Amino acid sequence: MRAAFFEGPGTIVVRDTPDPVCPPGGLLTRVEACAICGSDLRSFEAGSKHQGQIIGHETIATVIEVGEGVRGFKVGDRVADCPVTCGKCKYCKAGSNNLCLQRGRVGGRPQGGFAELRPVLASAVQGGFVVKVPGDILPEHATLIEPLACVINGQEKLVWRPGASVAILGAGPIGILHLILAKRQGAGKTVLVDLKDERLELARQFGPDYLLNGSRQDPVDETFRITRGEGMDIVIVACVSARAQAQALEMAGRMGQVLFFSGLPETSPMVTLNTNLIHYHELRVVGARSSVKRQWDAALEMIRLGAVDAGAIVTHTVSLEDIVEGFELARSGKALKVAVKP
Ligand SMILES: [Zn+2]
Ligand SMILES: [Zn+2]
Repeated sequence: MRAAFFEGPGTIVVRDTPDPVCPPGGLLTRVEACAICGSDLRSFEAGSKHQGQIIGHETIATVIEVGEGVRGFKVGDRVADCPVTCGKCKYCKAGSNNLCLQRGRVGGRPQGGFAELRPVLASAVQGGFVVKVPGDILPEHATLIEPLACVINGQEKLVWRPGASVAILGAGPIGILHLILAKRQGAGKTVLVDLKDERLELARQFGPDYLLNGSRQDPVDETFRITRGEGMDIVIVACVSARAQAQALEMAGRMGQVLFFSGLPETSPMVTLNTNLIHYHELRVVGARSSVKRQWDAALEMIRLGAVDAGAIVTHTVSLEDIVEGFELARSGKALKVAVKP
């Protein structure tokens, strides 16, 4: 099969590699689409532990072979699978499988979705980590299940009060999904900040009350002006930026909530923050990572019902051979979500 290998910062190579076999107890699938995630972009730009591997985790695929002993799946089923976790540690038992102590160490390492074929691990099938996707959802739209599930997880960490003012730093697909969900939560004033005008223009259709270009305007001054000196009730960092993390604390009003949704590159996670703001303003700063199966089911339902306009968010589709172009598009600000179709 053809597959895209992440060879190191700035290098993705599409080449032939032996077809995977159907694992006993698992599934063999043909990838319909796999979208480029911000974390893939971060790996592409700054490197990551996934060097040498086929990456891509926003995958939707069709079952072409069912492994020995598998029940409940048949050839032709469309599936997406979430990360395998142990089910035994205290976090899994509490339903927070995204924080599993054995995450990434149990069930085998899944192959990424930037490939023609992809095995679904027996541990995913047996552990109930596979979501069945109805036939009428376009594959590129279904790739939003994973990022939307993560955004649902992030917003579950916040306490929502009707009319809360919300600022989101980063107007990429994740920022826009946060905006859509924040409005559904009953947000009051919404502010979207980005450094690229093209991105802000693409985001305008999703109805934020204010669009700010952080390279020309000071988002801290502007949000205080918008809220008449109060500051924002909720600030969500949806971009890979230490500066944005520092600004988020400054934009928050008293008793404000700050969600660090996006991580920083593994090589440079240290940031200088004014922690006096947390102290004197009684801020609540929370993190969020990944998502759990329950949130995948909820995300699928939202996409199915059209609560999230997937067609407006997935703006581009490229072939597997053109994946590098897809990464450039995603990075440029000219695209929102870019789906790769083998
Ligand atoms: Zn993702
Ligand atoms: Zn666990």
